[in-house]
Amino acid sequence: MAHGEKFEVTILGGGLISWCHFGADPSASLNWGEVVMTQLNRARFVSTRFVLAMSAWALFGTVQVGTVQADAAPGRLARVHDHKGPDACDLVPPNRLQIADDGGTTRGGMNQVRFNQVLKAALTTYEPIFRNNGQKLILRGLWKSGDVNAHAYPGRDPIEVLERGGGSPELDLRFRRVDIYGGLARHPDMTADGLLMVICHEIGHHIGGMPAKFDSWGASNEGQSDYFAATKCMRKVLENVDNVAFLKRLPVDAGVRNRCTAAHSRNIKDSALCIRTSMAGLALAKVLSDLGAEGRVDFRTPDRSVVAQTDNAHPAAQCRLDTYFAGALCRVSHTKDMSFETPISGACVPERATNTAGARPNCWFNPKFYDRPELLTRL
Ligand SMILES: [Zn+2]
Repeated sequence: MAHGEKFEVTILGGGLISWCHFGADPSASLNWGEVVMTQLNRARFVSTRFVLAMSAWALFGTVQVGTVQADAAPGRLARVHDHKGPDACDLVPPNRLQIADDGGTTRGGMNQVRFNQVLKAALTTYEPIFRNNGQKLILRGLWKSGDVNAHAYPGRDPIEVLERGGGSPELDLRFRRVDIYGGLARHPDMTADGLLMVICHEIGHHIGGMPAKFDSWGASNEGQSDYFAATKCMRKVLENVDNVAFLKRLPVDAGVRNRCTAAHSRNIKDSALCIRTSMAGLALAKVLSDLGAEGRVDFRTPDRSVVAQTDNAHPAAQCRLDTYFAGALCRVSHTKDMSFETPISGACVPERATNTAGARPNCWFNPKFYDRPELLTRL
C-alpha cells in the first residue's frame, strides 16, 4: 500500500455496523501509519493459525469477527454509557468533564484519524491473543463522545441484551469489552502514544494478571493494569516499528534516556522502546494529574509512599507514572505473560537482582505478597 493511501476496514460487532477510515495523516509527525501497517502485516504471518482457530470456533458456532466499533448515534451512545455495567473498570474515577470534538487536531496531535489508527494497532495486536484465550475483544472507539474516560468490562453488547432479553450483560466472560471516549483523546495533554497506554491499561484489566480485584469478573487491579500496559502491551504493539527514528522527533527526558539505556544493557531497540513507553506514560500521567488536580508529575520526583497492603484503587498520578516507568525498565520479555495465579510470573521482582529497577512501585503494591499470593484474594 502506497504511503498516504486510504483504506477501509469493515467494522462489525455487537449490533453496530459501520465503516471507519484509517490511513496516513499527511500532517503526521508521528509514525502511527507505520504502526498500523506493521501490525496488519504481522497479522498475515499468523493467518494459518487464524484459519485453524476460526475453524475451531466455527465448529462451535461462535465465530467472532471483530472489531473496532465506530461511533453510534448520540442517543445510543448515551445508552451504551449508562449500561456499561456496575463493575466496569474506569481509567480514572467518574467525572463530569466533557471535551467536545471541534474537528481539528489537538495540541497533543490527536484527531479522529490518529485515534482510529491507535485503536486499530492495539486491536490487530490483541484480537488474536484474546481469541486464543477463547475470548472476543471488542474495542470501541467513541470519538464523538465528550466523556473523559475509558472503561473495561465483560459481557455481550449491553444494548443487544437489553433489547432481546437474556440476562445480565456482565455474565458472559467470553466477551471482553474496552470503550475509549473521544473526550479523553482530546485532552490537550494526550498524545497518540498516551492513548495507546490507555487502551493497554484497559486491556490489562482483562488479562493483566495479579494483583486482581476479585470482583465479579476478576479484573486486574488499577496498578497492575498500568504495569501490564508498560511491560507487555506497549511493547507488543510497538516492537516492530522504528522507535529509534520516532525518538528523533520526540522530546525525551534525559534521565529517562540514561536509565532506559542502562536497564536494557545498551540494546538500542529495547532502550528506544523503553524511552518511548516512558514518555507515553508521562503524557498519560499529565492527563491523569490534570483530571485529579494533583499538580506536577515528573520522573525525578517518584512517589515515596509505601502502602501497608496492596491498593486496588486508582493510584495517584505520580505513582502511576512511576509504574509506567518501572514497567518500561523491566527486562522481562513481553512474551512472558502475567498470571492470575501469582504476581511473580512475567514481572520484575526485586529479589531477582537483575530486575530490581523494573519492579512494581510500593506506592500501590506491597511486595510481602510475592510469597503469599493467596492473601491478595482477600484485599
Ligand atoms: Zn482502570
